Amino acid sequence: MNLSAFFALPAPVRLPPSWRRSWSAEGLLLAISVFLLSANSAFFRQALTGRSLGDPSSWGWGLTLAVALLALNFLVLGLMCHGRLLKPVAALLILLAAGGSHFIATFGIYLDPSMLRNALRTDPAEAGELIGLALLASLLFKGVLPAALMWQVPLRRLPFWRAQGRRALWLLGALLLLVAAILVEFRPLSSMMRNQRDLRYLVTPANLVWSTGSVVAADLKGAAKPRQAIGLDATPGPRMSARTRPMRVVLVVGETARAANWGLNGYARQTTPELAAVPGLINFPQVSSCGTNTEVSVPCMFAPVGRRDYDEARIRGSESLLHVLARAGVEVLWRDNQSGCKGVCDGLPSQEMVQINPPGLCADGRCLDEALLAGLDERLARAQGSGLIVLHMLGNHGPSYFRRYPERFARFQPACPSDDLRQCDSTAIANAYDNALLYTDHVLATLIARLKAQAQSDQVDTAMIYLSDHGESLGESNLYLHGLPWAIAPEVQKRVPMVMWFSDGLARQEQIDLDCLRRRAAQPAAHDNLFHTMLGLLDVRTALHEPALDLLAGCRRS
Ligand SMILES: [Zn+2]
Repeated sequence: MNLSAFFALPAPVRLPPSWRRSWSAEGLLLAISVFLLSANSAFFRQALTGRSLGDPSSWGWGLTLAVALLALNFLVLGLMCHGRLLKPVAALLILLAAGGSHFIATFGIYLDPSMLRNALRTDPAEAGELIGLALLASLLFKGVLPAALMWQVPLRRLPFWRAQGRRALWLLGALLLLVAAILVEFRPLSSMMRNQRDLRYLVTPANLVWSTGSVVAADLKGAAKPRQAIGLDATPGPRMSARTRPMRVVLVVGETARAANWGLNGYARQTTPELAAVPGLINFPQVSSCGTNTEVSVPCMFAPVGRRDYDEARIRGSESLLHVLARAGVEVLWRDNQSGCKGVCDGLPSQEMVQINPPGLCADGRCLDEALLAGLDERLARAQGSGLIVLHMLGNHGPSYFRRYPERFARFQPACPSDDLRQCDSTAIANAYDNALLYTDHVLATLIARLKAQAQSDQVDTAMIYLSDHGESLGESNLYLHGLPWAIAPEVQKRVPMVMWFSDGLARQEQIDLDCLRRRAAQPAAHDNLFHTMLGLLDVRTALHEPALDLLAGCRRS
C-alpha cells in the first residue's frame, strides 16, 4: 500500500500554507512528542492523586512530569525515527499510542510486558471482541488524523552525517532535560518509583516500545535454546505400580472465574447450583492465583516454581508438570478450548476444540465449553494405565461474557449484551458474568456425572480438579478485565475458585481421607500447590515433589 496515499487528506483538512515551509526532522519529532503527551492522561491522573489543585507544588510536580515525559517521548522518537522511515515509524507510534491509551482508559489496564505478551498471543476471535466503535473512534481521531496531519509536513533533508550529528545533539539535549526534571523533583519521583513502580507502564508510547522489546528479546532468547528438561528422575511410585484398574484424572483449567462470584464460596447469588448438589465435592474457598493473566498463570501453575519464587524466564524455559508425568508413564492429553497451552503441552498430545468441531457447539471460530466433553466417554472406556486429561476452558473470558453461555443459562437479567462493557451498567455486566459462571458450573457438574458413571460401570477410577487461571475486575474502582501487574492487582483478579471430586474407587485406591481433605480445603491454598498435588495424586516419584505443597499428602490413610 502507498502510505502517502493512505494518509492523504481532503483539501479542507490540509495544513495551511504558512505551515507548509519545510520543517527540520527534530522540529517535527518535538511536535509529535508534545502531541503524544495527550496519550498519558491515566498516568497524570494517577501521579497527581491526592494532590490539591490549589497547592502550587502540585502544579510544579505536574509540570515537571510533563517535561520529563516530553523528553522521554523525544528520546523514543529520536532513536526510532530516521531518514525515509521517520514518518512511517512516527505514524505507527502515534497509532499504537492511540490504541494503547484507549485500552488503558477503558479497562484500567497497564501495558507491561505480560499484558503485551497476552495481546500479542490473542487469537482473532478474541481480538474481534475487543474491537468496537469506541476503539475505532479513538484510533481515527487520536491516531489516523494526527498521523495524516504529520504526514503533510514537508521535511528538510540534510546530508547524512550532518543529520546524524544534529540528531545526536538533540538527543543529548532531551536526555539532559530528562535528568534535570528528575533532579528537580527527585524526592517525590523516587518515592513514586518505589511505591508505584508499575505507573511506568502507563507512560505511552514508551510502555509499548519497552514491553514489546522485552517480550521479543525474551522470546528470541527462549527460542535459541530448547526447553530445559525437568524431573529426569520421575518414576512410578508404589501406589501407581499397584493400580489394577485404569485411572484418569481430569484437570479443568478454568478461565477468568473469580472466587468472589463463586456460589460455593458463599456469594450472595447461587452461581454454582449444580456443583452444590454433587455429593462428596470439595470446595477450596481461599485459593490465590500465580498471575493475573493467562500467559503468566497457565505456565506457572504447571511449574514446580510458583508465585512464591516466581521466575518467568525459568518457567518459560523449562518443561512442565505434563512432561514429568509423561516421563513416568502417565498418558497425558491437553484439550484446548482457548488460546493454546502456552508451551505447557509442547511436544505432547493435544487437541483443539475448534478443529474437532462437535455438532451444535461451535460457531465463528469459538466453541462453548461443553465441546470439551465431546468424545470423553469413549476415551475413558478405552483407558489403560494412569492418565491425565487437561481441559482448558474458555470460561468467563471477557469482555464478551454474554457469548460464553447458551441462551438457557441467561438466568440473571438484564445481562450486558455488548462486546463494549461501557455500554452497560455494572449490574448488567455482573449478570452476564454470573450467567457464564452458571454455565461453567453446568459443564463441571456434567463432567463429574460422566466420570462417576464410568467409575460405577467398574471400568476406571476417576477424579476431577477444577481451578481458574486468574480472576477478573467487573468495574470495581473503575477497573475491568484482568492483567494488572501482580503488585497492584486487586484481590478479585488474584482469588480463584477451586474444587476437587474423587470417585469412591479412586479415593480408596489412593488412600485419600476425604474428611481430612475437607478440613484442609478450608485453609488457604494457591496455584503453587497444583504441581505437587498432581504428582502426589498420580503417584509419580521425583525429587521435584515437595510434600509440604501437596494438598493430599497430609490426608492419606497409611
Ligand atoms: Zn486467563
